Amino acid sequence: MKFADLHLHTKFSDGTFTPEELVLRAQQNGLACIALTDHDSVEGCARASKACAAVKMDFIPGAELTAEHNDIEVHILGYFLAITDEKFLARIGMFQTVRQNRIREMVAALNKLGIPLKAESVFALANCKSPGRPHVARALVKENLIGSLDEAFERFLKKGRPAWVPKTKMSALEAVELIHRAGGLAVVAHPGLNRSDDIIPDLVAAGMDGIECFHTKHSTVMSERYLEIADKYHLLVTGGSDCHGFSKKQPLIGTVKLPYEHVEQMKAARENRKSKNGNRK
Ligand code: AMP
Ligand code: ZN
Ligand code: FE
Ligand code: FE
Repeated sequence: MKFADLHLHTKFSDGTFTPEELVLRAQQNGLACIALTDHDSVEGCARASKACAAVKMDFIPGAELTAEHNDIEVHILGYFLAITDEKFLARIGMFQTVRQNRIREMVAALNKLGIPLKAESVFALANCKSPGRPHVARALVKENLIGSLDEAFERFLKKGRPAWVPKTKMSALEAVELIHRAGGLAVVAHPGLNRSDDIIPDLVAAGMDGIECFHTKHSTVMSERYLEIADKYHLLVTGGSDCHGFSKKQPLIGTVKLPYEHVEQMKAARENRKSKNGNRK
């Protein structure tokens, strides 16, 4: 049987693998298809696509957009994105700027607490357009300002802690529209982690195409619950490990194995959407 892992991060957001390292790991895990879903970025997709083509692995260019609806944070995965779409790139570019400014604010808050971290150290370590809290945590550890990544989150970076800074987010409805305009399919990520059940009907009404039923942090009961919801609303079923490389002990890639038939259903849905969009023009 063929399997896919459709939720993966690289160095182009807060993962630790390069796109080529990720593809090598995917190959070692016997995966037939992967999707790259960096946070608010498609920067790594061209390299991942090339590396996949070289080993004849199926590749889906994607991204994970941080969004909100009714004050609930929700992550929206985009699949089959046209990664050179200028409107899409311009809009996610604005959220990359939001992320960079937030790093400066978090560092300023740490400085006020007497922690002498420099924003430049975080940017140098992140070396990407879409930096996040894990990069601040890694910079603190690297400069011996804290003992571990967990401690960095527990003491400073978790929601409500003194260096936590809220992030301006895109509306979930805009995220769905943006993904569709870039030729993609929109999927709600790890609904079990975001208390997003109440907003699923609104997302479906906005044209959400699928739901991530299988995720490392979903229990079997949760996955079953979201499979039922997928059935009820006629949504595509997706799944992935949400691997961030070595940031969380062992790499998670391959620990969630989505049967390939779901990828085939996604491809059919994408063709369907394309022809619908074509008819509208
Ligand atoms: P950001 O997008 O900057 O808000 O950062 C979110 C990232 O931080 C996600 O990839 C999470 O996996 C990671 N993260 C969130 N909370 C924690 C935590 N308590 N410990 C370690 N990583 C975390
Ligand atoms: Zn992440
Ligand atoms: Fe997420
Ligand atoms: Fe993720």
